[in-house]
Amino acid sequence: MSYTNEQVAHLVEGTLDWETTFRMLSMPKDNSRFAQYLAALQAKVGFPDRIVLPLGPHLYIVQSARDKKWLIQCDCGHAFCGYKDNWKLHAAIYVRDTEAAMTEVYPALMAPDTRWQVYREYYCPSCGTMHDVEAPTPWYPVIHDFEPDIDTFYKEWVNLPLPERLD
Ligand SMILES: [Zn+2]
Repeated sequence: MSYTNEQVAHLVEGTLDWETTFRMLSMPKDNSRFAQYLAALQAKVGFPDRIVLPLGPHLYIVQSARDKKWLIQCDCGHAFCGYKDNWKLHAAIYVRDTEAAMTEVYPALMAPDTRWQVYREYYCPSCGTMHDVEAPTPWYPVIHDFEPDIDTFYKEWVNLPLPERLD
């Protein structure tokens, strides 16, 4: 199975979901794709820090150019936290927990019953980019996203040397 130029363009633009992205990047016998993808992402961002792994369309794990610590960082260069921490706890959070707030952005009949479900939107505090939305029950704690096994991914899936990590 191979991918079209259009799909690779979507990949770089970040308009594919992470699961598809991961599947495309991990295709066997195509170890150069991940390196090309990282290079394309790196060319798009304005910061000097090296991208280790994209976490979303505008969110990355990077190796800090200053001290080689791995950080979770926005497109704009805002660093949320260390790469193992939950960046959502360092984001600007907007909770839609009323019908009025829901219908601002979601079609009226599609909006959930706010007694059972709310929307939590996570924004970069520096540039305002929305990085994630959760639809939990109101009392559910802030969800910590999956922690990718980066060492294994570099070594066994894409066969690239792991960027140095000082932390
Ligand atoms: Zn930002």
